[in-house]
Amino acid sequence: MTESDGPLVLGIETSCDETGVGVVRGTTRLLSNVVASQEDLHSEYGGVVPEIAARAHLERLNATAEKALAEAGVSLEEVDAVAVTAGPGLAGALVVGVAAAKALALAASKPVVAVNHLEGHIFAALLDYPEFTPPAVALIVSGGHTMLVHFEELGCYRLLGDTLDDAVGEAFDKVARLLGFGFPGGPEIDRAAGRGHASALDLPRPMRGEGFDFSMAGLKTAVVTALRNLHSSGERVRRDDVAASFQRAVVDVLVEKTVAAADSTGVPSVVVCGGVAANSELRQEMKRACEESGLQLYIPQPRLCVDNGAMIASAGAFRFEREGPDLLDFEANPSLLAPFDSDDLSAGPSGLGPAAASGALGGSALTGEGGSH
Ligand code: ADP
Ligand code: MG
Repeated sequence: MTESDGPLVLGIETSCDETGVGVVRGTTRLLSNVVASQEDLHSEYGGVVPEIAARAHLERLNATAEKALAEAGVSLEEVDAVAVTAGPGLAGALVVGVAAAKALALAASKPVVAVNHLEGHIFAALLDYPEFTPPAVALIVSGGHTMLVHFEELGCYRLLGDTLDDAVGEAFDKVARLLGFGFPGGPEIDRAAGRGHASALDLPRPMRGEGFDFSMAGLKTAVVTALRNLHSSGERVRRDDVAASFQRAVVDVLVEKTVAAADSTGVPSVVVCGGVAANSELRQEMKRACEESGLQLYIPQPRLCVDNGAMIASAGAFRFEREGPDLLDFEANPSLLAPFDSDDLSAGPSGLGPAAASGALGGSALTGEGGSH
């Protein structure tokens, strides 16, 4: 390894339902990124089943790691460090990745680096934009998290806002289930919204103009209430129109708060990351709003937004260069917050994995194309 290249790092991600292994050189050069999704296993339950997730990680991790090394064209012997998501996430799922990383590190005499999954999401931006430098604000939106953070340098994050209830991805998944879409619902809502009219339902913009915290549970309830009202008055509404109305409400809030956070901290740059950052309307509207406000937007390509091993390898390379390896006795920590646990930490949920989706709506007022109602 040369100093300009940075370390060669293998990154392992098993915090939820994606078994991901990636190889990077330094924080910015992506050599491979293999993701074995478990969507097929969880879809019939309408949400991630922790025990199934942990078992599937165990079954798929070796092959995923071998494929990632092969695609990168490197051997385990050449790797400088093994990085792994230590948390936050599902306990059983995290344990599999952490145990595998330690085993690999021991067997091949490699140092191991524990990575915070949320920091991993931020580092996905560096893989697509090596030129990115803070100060910036980051909007982290996933199945388990909805956070706005401010950072003057990489590695040290000040939490500006958090969700008071459901994470955005969780809200997408719950509304999708309500509408009879499959799991995960985010991508399905995204597609349906593209065909629908966002003005069909008059939905609230929760906590608009009220600081940087978010509330998503009320929005889901508002969808339910609007559908019930339509149903009882005998009116019908297209499923695509509901998806479009819901998505527009979410995107409005996310974009407004992110731009307001950049304004109030005076930073020139915005990072948007996490699985929901794959959403096409969020990407488009954030781009428009940032251009209007003279902000530079860094939003990774969709496959780097959803959980993956390359982003963990990138954050691992950063931690390894800055702090060296971790001791082998670190443990998976489902509610890990550091390095997001500054003095300014607001009292939000500590970031466990996505909660189970709520029940479907009875007595639907929906008309749907290809719906399961
Ligand atoms: P985790 O929550 O475990 O960190 P990810 O970061 O991969 O996982 O985020 C998964 C979430 O992202 C899910 O809730 C999923 O519905 C959502 N998601 C993925 N793609 C889209 C999309 N195009 N639009 C909206 N939500 C999406
Ligand atoms: Mg994630």
